Amino acid sequence: MSVPVTEERAEPETALATARRQLDRAAAHVEIDPAVVERLKHPARVQRVSLPVERDDGSLEVFTGYRAQHDSVRGPFKGGMRYHPGVTEEECIGLSMWMTWKTAVMDLPFGGAKGGVVVDPKELSEAETERLTRRFAQELRDTVGPMHDIPAPDMGTDAETMGWFMDAYSVLQGETTPGVVTGKPPVIGGSHGREEAPGRSVAIVAREACDYHDIPIEGATVAVQGYGSVGANAARLLDSWGATVVAVSDVNGAAYDPDGLDTASIPSHEEEPEAVTRVAERTIENEELLELDVDVLVPAAVGNVITAANADAIAANLVVEGANGPTTATADSILRERGIPVIPDILANAGGVTVSYFEWLQDINRRSWSHERVNEELETEMLRAWSAVADRVDERGLAWRDAAYVLALERLGAAHDARGLWP
Ligand code: GLU
Repeated sequence: MSVPVTEERAEPETALATARRQLDRAAAHVEIDPAVVERLKHPARVQRVSLPVERDDGSLEVFTGYRAQHDSVRGPFKGGMRYHPGVTEEECIGLSMWMTWKTAVMDLPFGGAKGGVVVDPKELSEAETERLTRRFAQELRDTVGPMHDIPAPDMGTDAETMGWFMDAYSVLQGETTPGVVTGKPPVIGGSHGREEAPGRSVAIVAREACDYHDIPIEGATVAVQGYGSVGANAARLLDSWGATVVAVSDVNGAAYDPDGLDTASIPSHEEEPEAVTRVAERTIENEELLELDVDVLVPAAVGNVITAANADAIAANLVVEGANGPTTATADSILRERGIPVIPDILANAGGVTVSYFEWLQDINRRSWSHERVNEELETEMLRAWSAVADRVDERGLAWRDAAYVLALERLGAAHDARGLWP
Protein backbone atom coordinates (compact mmCIF):
# COMPACT_ATOMS: atom_id res chain seq x y z
CA MET A 1 0.00 0.00 0.00
CA SER A 2 2.22 2.81 -1.16
CA VAL A 3 1.02 6.38 -0.88
CA PRO A 4 1.29 8.02 -4.32
CA VAL A 5 4.15 10.49 -4.36
CA THR A 6 2.19 12.84 -6.56
CA GLU A 7 -0.53 13.25 -3.93
CA GLU A 8 -0.78 16.90 -2.92
CA ARG A 9 -0.29 17.52 0.76
CA ALA A 10 0.13 20.64 2.82
CA GLU A 11 3.62 20.81 4.22
CA PRO A 12 4.95 20.91 6.81
CA GLU A 13 2.38 18.54 8.19
CA THR A 14 1.68 18.53 11.94
CA ALA A 15 3.21 15.73 14.02
CA LEU A 16 -0.33 14.55 14.76
CA ALA A 17 -1.31 14.34 11.07
CA THR A 18 1.92 12.49 10.28
CA ALA A 19 1.47 10.11 13.22
CA ARG A 20 -2.12 9.30 12.16
CA ARG A 21 -1.13 8.80 8.52
CA GLN A 22 1.70 6.45 9.54
CA LEU A 23 -0.71 4.52 11.78
CA ASP A 24 -3.15 4.01 8.90
CA ARG A 25 -0.36 2.84 6.60
CA ALA A 26 0.92 0.30 9.10
CA ALA A 27 -2.55 -0.91 10.16
CA ALA A 28 -3.08 -2.12 6.59
CA HIS A 29 -0.26 -4.63 7.13
CA VAL A 30 -1.40 -6.03 10.49
CA GLU A 31 -4.31 -8.16 11.54
CA ILE A 32 -5.69 -5.77 14.10
CA ASP A 33 -9.20 -4.96 15.25
CA PRO A 34 -10.17 -1.70 13.45
CA ALA A 35 -11.71 -0.52 16.73
CA VAL A 36 -8.25 -0.65 18.34
CA VAL A 37 -6.78 1.38 15.47
CA GLU A 38 -9.56 3.92 15.98
CA ARG A 39 -8.77 4.13 19.70
CA LEU A 40 -5.08 4.60 18.92
CA LYS A 41 -5.82 7.66 16.77
CA HIS A 42 -6.88 9.58 19.88
CA PRO A 43 -5.03 10.49 23.06
CA ALA A 44 -6.50 9.14 26.30
CA ARG A 45 -6.21 12.58 27.91
CA VAL A 46 -4.63 15.97 27.28
CA GLN A 47 -4.04 18.46 30.06
CA ARG A 48 -3.42 22.15 29.42
CA VAL A 49 -2.08 24.30 32.23
CA SER A 50 -1.26 27.98 32.75
CA LEU A 51 2.03 28.60 34.46
CA PRO A 52 2.45 32.01 36.10
CA VAL A 53 6.15 32.66 36.62
CA GLU A 54 7.90 35.59 38.25
CA ARG A 55 10.63 36.96 35.98
CA ASP A 56 13.91 38.10 37.51
CA ASP A 57 12.88 41.76 37.07
CA GLY A 58 9.82 41.17 39.28
CA SER A 59 7.29 41.12 36.41
CA LEU A 60 4.96 38.20 35.84
CA GLU A 61 4.63 36.08 32.72
CA VAL A 62 2.08 33.32 32.15
CA PHE A 63 3.31 30.36 30.09
CA THR A 64 1.19 27.54 28.67
CA GLY A 65 2.05 23.89 29.26
CA TYR A 66 0.62 20.59 28.05
CA ARG A 67 0.76 16.92 28.92
CA ALA A 68 -0.70 14.54 26.36
CA GLN A 69 -1.24 10.95 27.50
CA HIS A 70 -1.86 8.72 24.54
CA ASP A 71 -2.16 5.06 25.53
CA SER A 72 -1.38 3.05 28.67
CA VAL A 73 -2.52 -0.45 27.73
CA ARG A 74 1.02 -1.85 28.16
CA GLY A 75 2.01 0.19 31.23
CA PRO A 76 2.28 3.72 32.68
CA PHE A 77 2.34 6.67 30.28
CA LYS A 78 5.94 7.56 29.41
CA GLY A 79 7.60 10.34 27.46
CA GLY A 80 9.59 13.52 27.53
CA MET A 81 8.69 17.15 28.15
CA ARG A 82 10.07 19.84 25.88
CA TYR A 83 10.61 23.56 26.32
CA HIS A 84 10.31 25.10 22.87
CA PRO A 85 8.49 28.09 21.36
CA GLY A 86 6.87 25.81 18.76
CA VAL A 87 5.15 23.51 21.29
CA THR A 88 1.43 23.06 20.56
CA GLU A 89 -1.27 20.76 21.87
CA GLU A 90 -1.37 18.94 18.52
CA GLU A 91 2.38 18.46 18.50
CA CYS A 92 2.30 16.98 22.01
CA ILE A 93 -0.43 14.54 20.95
CA GLY A 94 1.48 13.46 17.83
CA LEU A 95 4.68 13.03 19.83
CA SER A 96 2.80 11.09 22.53
CA MET A 97 1.61 8.66 19.84
CA TRP A 98 5.21 8.14 18.70
CA MET A 99 6.13 7.33 22.30
CA THR A 100 3.44 4.62 22.38
CA TRP A 101 4.94 3.01 19.26
CA LYS A 102 8.48 3.48 20.59
CA THR A 103 7.86 1.74 23.92
CA ALA A 104 6.01 -1.05 22.07
CA VAL A 105 8.84 -1.53 19.52
CA MET A 106 11.27 -1.83 22.44
CA ASP A 107 8.81 -4.07 24.33
CA LEU A 108 9.03 -1.85 27.43
CA PRO A 109 6.15 -2.04 29.92
CA PHE A 110 5.12 1.57 29.23
CA GLY A 111 2.62 3.51 27.16
CA GLY A 112 3.14 6.86 25.46
CA ALA A 113 2.97 10.49 26.58
CA LYS A 114 4.57 13.83 25.80
CA GLY A 115 4.44 17.26 27.33
CA GLY A 116 5.86 20.65 26.85
CA VAL A 117 5.84 24.34 27.63
CA VAL A 118 5.56 27.04 24.97
CA VAL A 119 8.73 28.92 25.81
CA ASP A 120 12.12 29.72 24.34
CA PRO A 121 14.44 28.43 27.07
CA LYS A 122 17.23 30.67 25.75
CA GLU A 123 15.20 33.67 26.94
CA LEU A 124 14.93 32.47 30.55
CA SER A 125 17.58 32.72 33.25
CA GLU A 126 18.39 29.55 35.18
CA ALA A 127 16.35 30.79 38.15
CA GLU A 128 13.35 31.50 35.89
CA THR A 129 13.61 28.05 34.30
CA GLU A 130 13.68 26.52 37.77
CA ARG A 131 10.55 28.45 38.85
CA LEU A 132 8.77 27.48 35.61
CA THR A 133 9.68 23.81 36.08
CA ARG A 134 8.59 23.68 39.70
CA ARG A 135 5.28 25.32 38.80
CA PHE A 136 4.79 22.83 35.95
CA ALA A 137 5.42 19.96 38.40
CA GLN A 138 2.93 21.44 40.82
CA GLU A 139 0.24 21.81 38.12
CA LEU A 140 0.87 18.25 36.86
CA ARG A 141 0.97 16.78 40.36
CA ASP A 142 -2.21 14.73 39.89
CA THR A 143 -1.36 13.81 36.29
CA VAL A 144 2.12 12.33 36.73
CA GLY A 145 3.41 9.70 39.14
CA PRO A 146 5.85 6.79 39.11
CA MET A 147 3.10 4.24 38.40
CA HIS A 148 1.03 6.57 36.24
CA ASP A 149 2.95 8.93 33.97
CA ILE A 150 6.71 9.45 33.98
CA PRO A 151 8.21 12.50 32.20
CA ALA A 152 11.80 12.68 30.93
CA PRO A 153 14.06 15.17 29.13
CA ASP A 154 13.36 16.22 25.55
CA MET A 155 14.21 19.32 23.48
CA GLY A 156 15.15 22.24 25.75
CA THR A 157 15.11 20.22 28.99
CA ASP A 158 17.87 18.21 30.66
CA ALA A 159 18.93 16.38 33.82
CA GLU A 160 18.82 19.59 35.88
CA THR A 161 15.22 20.25 34.76
CA MET A 162 14.29 16.71 35.82
CA GLY A 163 15.96 17.25 39.20
CA TRP A 164 13.82 20.35 39.90
CA PHE A 165 10.68 18.53 38.72
CA MET A 166 11.43 15.54 40.93
CA ASP A 167 12.17 17.75 43.94
CA ALA A 168 8.98 19.81 43.59
CA TYR A 169 6.86 16.66 43.19
CA SER A 170 8.60 14.95 46.11
CA VAL A 171 8.14 17.94 48.43
CA LEU A 172 4.44 18.14 47.53
CA GLN A 173 3.98 14.40 48.09
CA GLY A 174 5.90 14.52 51.35
CA GLU A 175 8.20 11.72 50.27
CA THR A 176 11.22 11.44 47.99
CA THR A 177 9.88 9.97 44.75
CA PRO A 178 12.75 9.46 42.30
CA GLY A 179 10.65 7.33 39.94
CA VAL A 180 8.34 10.23 38.97
CA VAL A 181 10.77 11.32 36.24
CA THR A 182 13.70 9.75 34.41
CA GLY A 183 16.82 11.44 33.09
CA LYS A 184 17.69 12.88 36.54
CA PRO A 185 21.24 13.48 37.74
CA PRO A 186 22.67 10.15 39.02
CA VAL A 187 23.15 11.56 42.56
CA ILE A 188 19.37 11.63 43.05
CA GLY A 189 18.44 8.37 41.35
CA GLY A 190 19.30 9.07 37.73
CA SER A 191 20.86 6.32 35.66
CA HIS A 192 24.41 6.29 34.41
CA GLY A 193 24.42 6.42 30.63
CA ARG A 194 20.93 7.95 30.34
CA GLU A 195 22.07 11.20 28.78
CA GLU A 196 24.10 9.55 26.03
CA ALA A 197 21.55 6.75 25.49
CA PRO A 198 19.54 8.18 22.55
CA GLY A 199 22.77 8.97 20.67
CA ARG A 200 24.19 5.55 21.55
CA SER A 201 21.12 3.81 20.18
CA VAL A 202 21.28 5.90 16.99
CA ALA A 203 24.91 4.77 16.57
CA ILE A 204 24.09 1.11 17.27
CA VAL A 205 21.21 1.15 14.82
CA ALA A 206 23.29 2.99 12.18
CA ARG A 207 25.99 0.33 12.58
CA GLU A 208 23.45 -2.51 12.20
CA ALA A 209 21.80 -0.77 9.24
CA CYS A 210 25.18 -0.40 7.51
CA ASP A 211 25.87 -4.07 8.12
CA TYR A 212 22.43 -5.05 6.79
CA HIS A 213 22.91 -2.95 3.66
CA ASP A 214 26.51 -4.17 3.09
CA ILE A 215 28.20 -0.87 3.92
CA PRO A 216 31.34 -1.48 6.03
CA ILE A 217 31.17 0.78 9.11
CA GLU A 218 34.95 1.20 8.88
CA GLY A 219 35.24 4.22 6.58
CA ALA A 220 31.48 4.71 6.12
CA THR A 221 30.83 8.43 5.59
CA VAL A 222 28.36 10.04 7.98
CA ALA A 223 26.66 13.47 8.17
CA VAL A 224 24.89 14.44 11.39
CA GLN A 225 22.45 17.35 11.61
CA GLY A 226 22.27 18.62 15.19
CA TYR A 227 25.07 18.44 17.75
CA GLY A 228 23.06 18.17 20.96
CA SER A 229 22.98 15.11 23.14
CA VAL A 230 21.61 12.86 20.36
CA GLY A 231 23.75 14.08 17.45
CA ALA A 232 27.04 14.55 19.30
CA ASN A 233 26.92 11.19 21.06
CA ALA A 234 25.95 9.38 17.86
CA ALA A 235 28.68 11.15 15.85
CA ARG A 236 31.39 10.47 18.44
CA LEU A 237 30.51 6.80 18.82
CA LEU A 238 30.37 6.22 15.06
CA ASP A 239 33.70 8.07 14.77
CA SER A 240 35.20 5.80 17.45
CA TRP A 241 33.93 2.73 15.56
CA GLY A 242 35.85 3.75 12.45
CA ALA A 243 33.22 5.71 10.50
CA THR A 244 34.29 8.96 8.80
CA VAL A 245 32.07 11.75 10.12
CA VAL A 246 32.31 14.35 7.36
CA ALA A 247 29.80 16.93 8.63
CA VAL A 248 28.04 17.93 11.86
CA SER A 249 25.90 20.99 12.45
CA ASP A 250 24.04 23.21 14.88
CA VAL A 251 21.52 26.01 14.21
CA ASN A 252 24.21 28.27 12.73
CA GLY A 253 25.51 25.83 10.12
CA ALA A 254 27.76 22.83 9.66
CA ALA A 255 31.42 21.93 10.06
CA TYR A 256 32.55 20.00 6.98
CA ASP A 257 35.67 17.98 6.19
CA PRO A 258 35.50 15.26 3.51
CA ASP A 259 38.46 13.52 5.19
CA GLY A 260 36.61 13.30 8.51
CA LEU A 261 36.12 15.64 11.46
CA ASP A 262 37.61 15.15 14.91
CA THR A 263 34.21 14.88 16.61
CA ALA A 264 35.68 14.88 20.13
CA SER A 265 37.16 18.34 19.63
CA ILE A 266 33.87 19.91 18.51
CA PRO A 267 31.89 21.01 21.60
CA SER A 268 28.42 19.50 21.86
CA HIS A 269 25.49 21.81 22.63
CA GLU A 270 25.72 20.78 26.29
CA GLU A 271 29.48 21.50 26.44
CA GLU A 272 29.24 24.88 24.70
CA PRO A 273 26.04 25.94 22.94
CA GLU A 274 26.23 26.77 19.22
CA ALA A 275 30.01 26.34 18.93
CA VAL A 276 30.14 24.08 15.85
CA THR A 277 30.75 26.78 13.23
CA ARG A 278 33.06 28.72 15.55
CA VAL A 279 35.54 25.85 15.78
CA ALA A 280 35.11 24.66 12.17
CA GLU A 281 37.82 25.16 9.55
CA ARG A 282 35.35 24.79 6.70
CA THR A 283 31.61 25.40 6.97
CA ILE A 284 28.57 24.63 4.85
CA GLU A 285 24.88 25.41 5.29
CA ASN A 286 22.56 23.04 7.14
CA GLU A 287 20.60 22.49 3.91
CA GLU A 288 23.80 21.39 2.13
CA LEU A 289 24.59 18.93 4.92
CA LEU A 290 21.28 17.18 4.33
CA GLU A 291 22.08 16.75 0.64
CA LEU A 292 25.66 15.44 1.01
CA ASP A 293 26.56 12.26 -0.84
CA VAL A 294 27.31 10.16 2.25
CA ASP A 295 26.66 6.60 3.35
CA VAL A 296 24.60 7.61 6.40
CA LEU A 297 22.61 10.77 7.05
CA VAL A 298 21.49 11.30 10.66
CA PRO A 299 18.96 14.13 11.11
CA ALA A 300 19.23 14.66 14.89
CA ALA A 301 17.98 18.22 15.39
CA VAL A 302 14.29 19.05 14.98
CA GLY A 303 11.23 17.65 13.18
CA ASN A 304 10.26 18.18 9.51
CA VAL A 305 13.72 18.76 7.99
CA ILE A 306 13.43 16.20 5.18
CA THR A 307 10.41 17.44 3.25
CA ALA A 308 8.87 17.33 -0.24
CA ALA A 309 11.17 20.25 -1.06
CA ASN A 310 14.47 18.39 -0.54
CA ALA A 311 13.64 14.65 -0.54
CA ASP A 312 14.61 14.36 -4.23
CA ALA A 313 18.01 15.86 -3.44
CA ILE A 314 18.89 13.53 -0.54
CA ALA A 315 21.99 11.68 -1.75
CA ALA A 316 22.72 9.49 1.31
CA ASN A 317 22.55 5.69 1.01
CA LEU A 318 20.75 5.43 4.35
CA VAL A 319 18.85 7.79 6.66
CA VAL A 320 18.86 7.07 10.40
CA GLU A 321 16.41 9.31 12.29
CA GLY A 322 17.93 10.73 15.47
CA ALA A 323 15.30 13.43 16.01
CA ASN A 324 11.61 12.66 16.46
CA GLY A 325 9.76 13.10 13.16
CA PRO A 326 12.52 14.60 10.97
CA THR A 327 10.95 13.17 7.78
CA THR A 328 7.53 14.35 6.60
CA ALA A 329 5.08 11.75 5.26
CA THR A 330 5.50 13.02 1.70
CA ALA A 331 9.29 12.97 1.94
CA ASP A 332 9.08 9.47 3.37
CA SER A 333 7.14 8.30 0.28
CA ILE A 334 9.66 9.95 -2.02
CA LEU A 335 12.63 8.31 -0.25
CA ARG A 336 10.84 4.94 -0.33
CA GLU A 337 10.23 5.25 -4.08
CA ARG A 338 13.88 6.22 -4.53
CA GLY A 339 14.98 3.12 -2.60
CA ILE A 340 16.70 5.02 0.23
CA PRO A 341 16.08 3.12 3.47
CA VAL A 342 14.93 5.29 6.40
CA ILE A 343 15.48 3.77 9.83
CA PRO A 344 12.70 5.35 11.88
CA ASP A 345 12.98 7.44 15.04
CA ILE A 346 10.81 5.01 17.03
CA LEU A 347 13.61 2.45 16.70
CA ALA A 348 16.76 4.52 16.19
CA ASN A 349 16.50 6.96 19.10
CA ALA A 350 14.64 4.56 21.42
CA GLY A 351 17.77 4.10 23.55
CA GLY A 352 16.63 7.14 25.52
CA VAL A 353 13.39 5.68 26.75
CA THR A 354 15.04 2.27 27.13
CA VAL A 355 17.57 3.62 29.62
CA SER A 356 14.69 5.58 31.18
CA TYR A 357 13.13 2.20 31.84
CA PHE A 358 16.40 0.98 33.39
CA GLU A 359 16.40 4.15 35.54
CA TRP A 360 12.83 3.56 36.66
CA LEU A 361 13.72 -0.02 37.65
CA GLN A 362 16.74 1.27 39.60
CA ASP A 363 14.53 3.84 41.37
CA ILE A 364 11.91 1.27 42.32
CA ASN A 365 14.57 -1.15 43.58
CA ARG A 366 16.62 1.64 45.22
CA ARG A 367 19.72 0.13 43.67
CA SER A 368 21.87 1.66 40.96
CA TRP A 369 23.47 -0.14 38.03
CA SER A 370 27.03 0.41 36.79
CA HIS A 371 27.52 2.40 33.60
CA GLU A 372 28.89 -0.76 32.04
CA ARG A 373 25.77 -2.74 32.86
CA VAL A 374 23.53 0.00 31.44
CA ASN A 375 25.45 0.04 28.16
CA GLU A 376 25.49 -3.75 27.91
CA GLU A 377 21.76 -4.07 28.55
CA LEU A 378 21.04 -1.22 26.15
CA GLU A 379 23.05 -2.97 23.44
CA THR A 380 21.10 -6.20 24.09
CA GLU A 381 17.72 -4.45 23.94
CA MET A 382 18.62 -2.50 20.78
CA LEU A 383 19.80 -5.64 18.99
CA ARG A 384 16.66 -7.49 20.05
CA ALA A 385 14.41 -4.73 18.69
CA TRP A 386 16.55 -4.35 15.55
CA SER A 387 16.20 -8.10 14.78
CA ALA A 388 12.45 -8.07 15.39
CA VAL A 389 12.03 -5.16 12.96
CA ALA A 390 14.48 -6.67 10.43
CA ASP A 391 12.49 -9.93 10.50
CA ARG A 392 9.40 -8.04 9.38
CA VAL A 393 11.38 -6.24 6.66
CA ASP A 394 12.66 -9.60 5.38
CA GLU A 395 9.45 -11.59 5.71
CA ARG A 396 7.04 -9.05 4.29
CA GLY A 397 9.19 -6.81 2.14
CA LEU A 398 8.20 -3.75 4.19
CA ALA A 399 10.06 -0.46 4.49
CA TRP A 400 11.81 -0.05 7.85
CA ARG A 401 9.29 2.43 9.23
CA ASP A 402 6.33 0.27 8.27
CA ALA A 403 8.04 -2.78 9.77
CA ALA A 404 8.64 -0.99 13.09
CA TYR A 405 5.02 0.18 13.17
CA VAL A 406 3.79 -3.31 12.36
CA LEU A 407 5.78 -4.71 15.29
CA ALA A 408 4.40 -2.00 17.61
CA LEU A 409 0.84 -2.53 16.41
CA GLU A 410 1.06 -6.31 16.82
CA ARG A 411 2.01 -5.81 20.47
CA LEU A 412 -0.52 -3.05 21.10
CA GLY A 413 -3.30 -4.94 19.34
CA ALA A 414 -2.63 -8.05 21.42
CA ALA A 415 -2.62 -6.05 24.67
CA HIS A 416 -5.85 -4.22 23.79
CA ASP A 417 -7.47 -7.54 22.87
CA ALA A 418 -6.41 -9.12 26.15
CA ARG A 419 -7.67 -6.21 28.25
CA GLY A 420 -10.78 -5.42 26.19
CA LEU A 421 -12.89 -2.25 26.24
CA TRP A 422 -14.43 -1.30 29.55
CA PRO A 423 -16.63 0.33 30.72
N1 GLU B 1 12.28 12.37 25.04
C1 GLU B 1 12.83 11.10 24.73
C2 GLU B 1 12.15 10.49 23.51
O1 GLU B 1 11.59 11.18 22.71
C3 GLU B 1 12.86 10.17 25.91
C4 GLU B 1 11.55 9.83 26.53
C5 GLU B 1 11.69 9.06 27.85
O2 GLU B 1 12.80 8.70 28.22
O3 GLU B 1 10.66 8.87 28.47
O4 GLU B 1 12.23 9.32 23.29
